[in-house]
Amino acid sequence: MMHEPSDLQQFCDWLAAAGNISFFTGAGVSTESGIADFRSPGGIWSQIKPIQFSDFVADEETRLEDWRRRFHFQAGFDAASPNRGHLAIASAVNARPGGHVITQNIDGLHQRSGIDESRIIEIHGNGTRAACLDCRSPMSLAEARQTIETEARAPRCRRCGGLVKAAVISFGEPMPADKMPQARQIAEQAEIFVVAGSSLVVQPAASLPVVAKEAGARLVIVNREPTPLDSLADLVLHSQIGETLGKAVAEMTP
Ligand SMILES: [Zn+2]
Repeated sequence: MMHEPSDLQQFCDWLAAAGNISFFTGAGVSTESGIADFRSPGGIWSQIKPIQFSDFVADEETRLEDWRRRFHFQAGFDAASPNRGHLAIASAVNARPGGHVITQNIDGLHQRSGIDESRIIEIHGNGTRAACLDCRSPMSLAEARQTIETEARAPRCRRCGGLVKAAVISFGEPMPADKMPQARQIAEQAEIFVVAGSSLVVQPAASLPVVAKEAGARLVIVNREPTPLDSLADLVLHSQIGETLGKAVAEMTP
């Protein structure tokens, strides 16, 4: 769908004038890097039943199946590169103090686009890493894989013996207590809050644009399809994400 050139110009002007720019990103940002949207209709979770956190904890066979799936996704993440959208987001976030990206994506591409870890809030976790469920000691996916291949069992923490799991938030797993308060604070502090590539249907994440708007931010939504929050936004661009963000950020002066 085409948008009016004046809408893009408006977006450029707001970005240029804002002192605190934060983003909220979803699968649509990474599909342009060739990463499948696994929650979408036709996505992998409509074909394969997701593994519940309680089943992972309870059952060794389920853990091994979860690891097989993680390694499958990781191969896709490794093969992908940050696209024009990721790079534009990195430029905008890094251009101002206080800029952050809150993401639903687990692929690590925001880090690889040059945004510091401290400016990224991954509300669904990160599928490129693993950690102990008890003491949070990290383990690389490569080490987890080696354990499974050589010992035919799911990896255990070398420090405390706890279960190790990919550092994503599994279905039915509670979100770490600090993530949503951090994300809400970022939304409250933003002067412009840009939603990119999220259909804004997964709660509680989808409440963040409302928080930003109520705290006085300009809310911009860039997504190919309409979202339930379009009517709340100051500006909605139903267009290609990478191209739109690329053009909007190119006009920003640092
Ligand atoms: Zn441990």
